Amino acid sequence: MSPHVLILGGTTEARRLAADLAARPGVRVTTSLAGRVTRPGPLAGDVRVGGFGGADGLAAWLREQRVDALVDATHPFAASVTANAARAAAATGVPAVVLRRPGWRPGPGDRWHPVPSLAAAAQALPALGRRVLLTTGRLGLAAFAHLTDLYFVVRSVEPPEPPMPPHVHVLSARGPFTVAGESALLRGHRIDVLVTKDSGGEATAAKLTAARELGLPVVIVRRPPLPEGVTAVPDVPGVLERLGLGGP
Ligand code: NAP
Repeated sequence: MSPHVLILGGTTEARRLAADLAARPGVRVTTSLAGRVTRPGPLAGDVRVGGFGGADGLAAWLREQRVDALVDATHPFAASVTANAARAAAATGVPAVVLRRPGWRPGPGDRWHPVPSLAAAAQALPALGRRVLLTTGRLGLAAFAHLTDLYFVVRSVEPPEPPMPPHVHVLSARGPFTVAGESALLRGHRIDVLVTKDSGGEATAAKLTAARELGLPVVIVRRPPLPEGVTAVPDVPGVLERLGLGGP
């Protein structure tokens, strides 16, 4: 019988994995999306959209849909669904793999200020600059709402949601971004500090290079930890190997 792989998606890596698996004869692949993005783009294989109803709902889905392997390829900051996936896998005995792209690493010349949360990022900001490029996503702007003296350029795929700070310029954009484009953005808005999550990956790394070249400080929000006992693989080949589908 064809193995059925469920991918918890919402990332570039999830899309790549779905394309690889769907191209293999005899493998059935379903990608699950939370439904946050209005036009998520084409995905290979089957797609389902919306929450499962917590770990129990996901466990029920794994049983009903006869899933043989679960791949959590969600974003490094999507901590709830990752916790649910670990619990559902443990409850059902379905083999599970977590795919996490590596975090970014500072290099010579970087002025990074790692912080544990958006609230801590907001606390650090006034001492670092007045004009902020905020790329932490459209949710969570409430953490910055009290910073009434600062000017924010908020860049996100979907429009941000209030509450948010009063002086906000919204840019709707989706990566990949280039260093030249990011430099132009930083200069154009006279940005003096950047705030980002440690999302990792190539598509949105150019802002870090541009900030370094301009000598700007970067407040970088650290990733939430993986659930107890869970280890991740960094890329699609790592997942295929764990699923027993690797090799030439
Ligand atoms: P989250 O806080 O971990 O998840 C909240 C709830 O959303 C989960 O409990 C689950 O609902 C549902 N959910 C999340 N991902 C799902 C998926 N792939 N399929 C079905 N249901 C899902 O997640 P989030 O941070 O809101 O992120 C939502 C989605 O956006 C994720 O798929 C993630 O990969 C993607 N994303 C997130 C970020 C980020 O910065 N957080 C950035 C880029 C993309 P139930 O409990 O009802 O199952």
